[in-house]
Amino acid sequence: MQVYVSVDMEGIAGIVHVDQTRRTGADYERARRWMTLEANAAVLGAFDAGATAVLVNDAHGDMRNLVLEDLDPRAEILSGSLKPRSMVEGASGAFGVALFVGYHAGAGSRAGVLDHTYYGRVVARLRLGDRDVNETGLNAIVCGMDGVPVGLVTGDSTTCAQARALLGDVVTVPVKDAITRYAARSLSPETARARVRAGAAHAVRRATAGELKPYRPTPPHALEIDFVNSACADAAELVPGTRRVSGTATRYDAPDGDTLLRVIQAWTILAGSTMV
Ligand SMILES: [Zn+2]
Repeated sequence: MQVYVSVDMEGIAGIVHVDQTRRTGADYERARRWMTLEANAAVLGAFDAGATAVLVNDAHGDMRNLVLEDLDPRAEILSGSLKPRSMVEGASGAFGVALFVGYHAGAGSRAGVLDHTYYGRVVARLRLGDRDVNETGLNAIVCGMDGVPVGLVTGDSTTCAQARALLGDVVTVPVKDAITRYAARSLSPETARARVRAGAAHAVRRATAGELKPYRPTPPHALEIDFVNSACADAAELVPGTRRVSGTATRYDAPDGDTLLRVIQAWTILAGSTMV
């Protein structure tokens, strides 16, 4: 079985602040190694469970964070941006399962380390219908289009709870408990890696046994974003098919997951261009 790994940064053990997650941050160089080694733990777990190939997608920020020489040489890496399917670029039907490592809670969560949804500078809340949906949910919909189930989600305990609430039957590995947005009680990086490795192996074995189902909510997906100010919504409204539903919110009924992710990216890139 081929295994797909999407790796974000905010949900890695020990990380609690943007000084660690931004390229210009003082602690970034150290934190990117924690991210790489936790991603590698998932790769090792996948191969422990009989994976034939593993593709790792760097899914944070400019998507050039992973220290490639520290990854298992059996894995291939998707690096850089822009990617039309962003955090789940390349998660085609060739893969038997997707593993989400280092994920974080959705925008507006309470007690979620560095909570946001896609572009935190402009997105205050994101909903599908009347339900808040985080990156785990959005990316699971895109994977589900091609029949790929999400088998593992790791991050803080709030992220793991959100994943179970949305996806139901999924292996979760909490590596820290958020106290506030910028504070957490964390496992040591070494202990977190051991648990992520075991969780990844468990997820791949479950996928091999046919126990996992793709996440496929019925379209259309009624996307609504509350932006941080009206200039962001003014810019998002330029995308054809967009409806303005309030001073700061826009709506789009997406017929499938691919369109959903393209609209989110188009809206947020346009909205980001208005920031002064
Ligand atoms: Zn991130």
